[in-house]
Amino acid sequence: MKKPTTAIGLRPIAPLAAKGQPAGGVKIQPVQGREASGFGTGSQAVRADMVRKLEAQGIAHAGVLAAMLAIERHRFVDTALANQAYEDTSLPIGLGQTISKPNVVARMLSLLFERESVNLGRVLEIGTGCGYQAALLSRLSREVYSIERLRGLHDKARENLRFFRLANLHLLFGDGMPGFAKGAPYSGIIAAAGGEAIPEAWTDQLAVGGRLVAPAVTASGQQHLVVIDKTARGLERKELEPVLFVPLKSGIA
Ligand code: SAH
Repeated sequence: MKKPTTAIGLRPIAPLAAKGQPAGGVKIQPVQGREASGFGTGSQAVRADMVRKLEAQGIAHAGVLAAMLAIERHRFVDTALANQAYEDTSLPIGLGQTISKPNVVARMLSLLFERESVNLGRVLEIGTGCGYQAALLSRLSREVYSIERLRGLHDKARENLRFFRLANLHLLFGDGMPGFAKGAPYSGIIAAAGGEAIPEAWTDQLAVGGRLVAPAVTASGQQHLVVIDKTARGLERKELEPVLFVPLKSGIA
């Protein structure tokens, strides 16, 4: 078998948290290793606090909450911002891009993994950014392809993610507008950047039974969270709450 050149580590994936399992009962071992930033071992408690707040805000997906408890968000932002890593705020990650606030990440992942079929398949992420959401995705699905158009961020994500050794996560440098046909069909597709429309290539690369979650401009002229399910009958589209994501852009830089 050809070894994927983009795999970033060798640690096997953690077993999926059972859907419907009460989040309070989820026990996750903190990832061991050197501590970045000023957090030390205290970061687990701060993260538990973040997860409690997410639950209070209505996030109920046990798997998503478990992943957010496990993945150390402070490792994905600059040291100077690490003390804000567990606040419900978006943060700059360089090159004019931002990491979405935890509530938005949790909401999108809850939508993406609402259906069991997505957990078991391949997922495509457009917009790796700092790699935080990619790390969460890797705990929630079998295989993840994450693509980023800015070389500087692709490199940064690779560096941030090295620590986590996620063997099922493949980082790609390139334009995600045409999707990534080699990994298709995908059970799930998620974008962290929003354009005027959702590229047809993405829905083409979605498996029947799969789901896409992305921000896009709707008829209202505003950006909304859009969910598209691919069914045997065709595409079913739902437009949800208004959101504000960085623009989806063509080409690489
Ligand atoms: N999920 C990311 C959020 C990053 S912000 C995180 O956890 O950090 C959105 C990212 O989408 C930016 O890094 C931006 O460069 C990227 N992006 C925008 N258009 C893109 C495209 N056509 N292909 C790939 N990445 C794109």
